[in-house]
Amino acid sequence: MLQDGTVGMQAVKRSGGLTMVQLPAEAEYPDMPQSVMNEMEVDYAVPVGEMGLLLQELVSVPASTDHAVPDDIKYEATIAERVMTQGNGHSEDMGLLGPQVPITCPDCGGALWEVKNGHLSHFRCHTGHTFTPETYLAGNMEALEETMWVALRMLEERRTLLSSMADQDRRRGSKYWANTQEERADELKVHIERIRKVLLANANSKNQQTQENDADAEWA
Ligand SMILES: [Zn+2]
Repeated sequence: MLQDGTVGMQAVKRSGGLTMVQLPAEAEYPDMPQSVMNEMEVDYAVPVGEMGLLLQELVSVPASTDHAVPDDIKYEATIAERVMTQGNGHSEDMGLLGPQVPITCPDCGGALWEVKNGHLSHFRCHTGHTFTPETYLAGNMEALEETMWVALRMLEERRTLLSSMADQDRRRGSKYWANTQEERADELKVHIERIRKVLLANANSKNQQTQENDADAEWA
């Protein structure tokens, strides 16, 4: 449950918009509409088959324009607009969003600011990326995983080279150097095994998550 849709729905509601979700019981991913319903009062929770007709009715009623958009949402929208028009949303008043946090954007490496809204919060960088804590962790893990695959490959290359140097030294009768290279290769083996274990555990938990989601969808 990543809650990014929930944050968006709250922004729509706080700006005076109407909110509608599919009934969780018939949704393919019931966690999504359920997350919204847990955090706020939605205007409509309906089966997807009724949405078309309801939308048709709703758009035929003139929208009210007397609801002011909250300042924090307006400010976030100006950042997104600056990104579109100037390629960068940074401005000196990023602090208006909330406090800067000691973590960086997994997509661009830039600084992040925390935007709080009730007990939900999300992070935004000056180039316009946004994350809930859950999407941040997912993005961060993906970057970390990529780095670990690169590290694993490089460690394995070093180990292969050291082993072949040890073989050469042994053939040349230089037992001392052969043993030294062999020891260095063995040391790397420990690190390689550790990284492999982390990557494997992560792949297993991802598989489990996918299976759980599929099972939820089947039983919903
Ligand atoms: Zn970013």
